[in-house]
Amino acid sequence: MKNMILIGVWMLVIQSQSGLFAQHAPVSDHEVVEALVSEAISSQIAYRQLEWLCKNTAGRICGTPEAAAAVEYTFQVMKGMGLDSVWLQEVPVKSWRRGEPERAMIVSARTGNHPLAVSALGWTPATGEAGMSAPVVEVRSMEELNQLKDSEVQGAVVFFNQPMDPASFNTFSAYGKAAFQRTAGPSAASKRGAVACMVRSLNPETDDHPHTGITRFEEGVIPIPAVAVSTRGADLLSAMLKTDPGLRVWIRTTSVVGEEMISYNVIGEIRGSQHPEKIITVGGHLDAWESGEGAHDDGGGCIQSIEVLRLFKTLGIRPVHTIRAVMFMDEEVAQRGGQVYAAEASRKGEQHIAALESDRGVLRPLAMGISVDAEKMKSLASWSALYEPYQIDLVQGGGGVDIGPLRNYYPGIVFMGLIPDDQRYFRYHHAETDVFEAVDRREMQLGAAAMAILIYLFDQNPF
Ligand SMILES: [Zn+2]
Repeated sequence: MKNMILIGVWMLVIQSQSGLFAQHAPVSDHEVVEALVSEAISSQIAYRQLEWLCKNTAGRICGTPEAAAAVEYTFQVMKGMGLDSVWLQEVPVKSWRRGEPERAMIVSARTGNHPLAVSALGWTPATGEAGMSAPVVEVRSMEELNQLKDSEVQGAVVFFNQPMDPASFNTFSAYGKAAFQRTAGPSAASKRGAVACMVRSLNPETDDHPHTGITRFEEGVIPIPAVAVSTRGADLLSAMLKTDPGLRVWIRTTSVVGEEMISYNVIGEIRGSQHPEKIITVGGHLDAWESGEGAHDDGGGCIQSIEVLRLFKTLGIRPVHTIRAVMFMDEEVAQRGGQVYAAEASRKGEQHIAALESDRGVLRPLAMGISVDAEKMKSLASWSALYEPYQIDLVQGGGGVDIGPLRNYYPGIVFMGLIPDDQRYFRYHHAETDVFEAVDRREMQLGAAAMAILIYLFDQNPF
């Protein structure tokens, strides 16, 4: 694996440094913005890095050899870029392996047997080799579950079947409203005596791809096997329950919860020319669900963050403050990478002035968000104007799961975020459809340019 990684790196990071800033002539913001976009959309480098990451480290949920390979790859890529420093930061994680492909089946004396496409939820226990079979009780909310009699839930599979609101324009908000069934459903079902839990995939489309994700069992609650079922499978099961309420489902999962181990955040930086002690972070998360390749979630965000540094280097932009790209580990499970990064920053007495996260896919960028009040926003009109030719808005709001903990130590920190078009994102999210081929090179690169522009503008005129 190590040799493969080195070849992958060697082929991808060869770059020129014929900088826009090489002659030290005054350069306008407009010229810099234009140069950042031109360099980004004409380059293949980041796109090929993402391809390498997707095709050689798919399955990189924390604690896996694939995650270790992704750490090594991004470390070597940044090493090869001539950054001022590149290092690994230890992050304790707990591993889990999915095991053999999961299987599930509707078993009905009345309508026959029908296979269901399912995917075990992260860190759930296995059903055992032979699988398990039980009657099914369907609910759409926690309230519906609470209203069921004990006799209806005990020994049953609780089937949460609340679709993402198809009428919601904002798919992230639709996801947020439906996510309870995956994150908290299995724990609530176990508390009531269910033997397993089946959850409708958080996917606005009707198809056969199950979408996995983490679930959390409350302290003292016995973990039970839990799977996401594809949206088409959920519709079928729901319809068949109406014809045959006595049907059973059979589920087989062979996942194994592993032990605590050490993984890493991967960090590279260009030191500031005037204020090296003040840090602007840009990052995404390196871990990804193993059903797909983690292209949109969030290999693309990681590679965009590296691309921001490459754009600065290639154009010869020497930042005033230190710009740091961080590949966070363990976002999908316990968010330990973000927590460790912030805690270590504070412990070392670092000064963090801004942080930008890309973890909403790498589809066409619609906006950059920035966490300022309405008054401050008005004063950024000239920045908005610089984005206008690219049909990218500058909007209020910013932040993310991995940079979020920085606010505990740096209350005044400015958060920023890439906001791509989200209409298609949740058909890929945590599913086997999240592959390199689902990423468009120009869209991803425009996103990287949009990130680099905001970092450049803030670096020149911080507040
Ligand atoms: Zn993500």
